[in-house]
Amino acid sequence: MRNTAKQLAAPDKDRITLPVFTYLIEHPKGLILVDTGWCREISPEGVYDPKAVAAVLPPHLAALFHPSVPAGMAVDEQLAVMGIHPEDLDYVLLTHLDPDHVAGLKHVNSARHIILPEDEYFWSCRAVYKTRQPQKLWIQYPMERPYYRGSVIGPNHWVIDLFGDESILLVNVPGHTDGQAAILIQNGGSFVLLAADAAYSPRNWEEMITPGFGFARGWQVKSLRWISDMAAEPGCAAVLCSHDPAVEPGVIAI
Ligand SMILES: [Zn+2]
Repeated sequence: MRNTAKQLAAPDKDRITLPVFTYLIEHPKGLILVDTGWCREISPEGVYDPKAVAAVLPPHLAALFHPSVPAGMAVDEQLAVMGIHPEDLDYVLLTHLDPDHVAGLKHVNSARHIILPEDEYFWSCRAVYKTRQPQKLWIQYPMERPYYRGSVIGPNHWVIDLFGDESILLVNVPGHTDGQAAILIQNGGSFVLLAADAAYSPRNWEEMITPGFGFARGWQVKSLRWISDMAAEPGCAAVLCSHDPAVEPGVIAI
């Protein structure tokens, strides 16, 4: 079914609640946070607060998103429990600029490096993304914006190799946004793939159901096929989607 404004702003009875995941990678070359979730200010008391949402998001996005951030669940609050201060983070990798992935950047902007693919940045103020990626959530923070490069990996053979050793790759998975990155973490023959919003659950690639949120269906299909191929690799420890309710918070070691 096509997205329409009517469908996106569903009546409350038709709404479903999905998690918003961030990931912490403990890598020999540093601590790496992937995405930042919602900010505390959008849900000061830990529940859905329409006035607080309206203060963070423009009206059309406030109608779409009804976020709640329970006590202790903002990204900096979860890091604090692990004894990690935002300035301890070596990298924050942003998979794309939709607000549920970057609103929490205000809590971790003292990280040493904030990395965003230039291709995501370029399109964020153009086309449809201008209305869905409010700049006030991220434009003021100093980001490093590398371009994707040609590679044998990925649906359109574009990657950013964070350390130059293929241990952390930002792999372009277009379709949800043009510049979106999946994060491929490799060690020896094993890997974990963080699929960002290229898929919402394994059903997307197992049954080739393209997610409703997307603006280039052909690219969504190509990205899903690549994810499906990766999930079938013997070295695959996990493929995790950013909003999959079946994913439990935990630790994966590779
Ligand atoms: Zn998302």
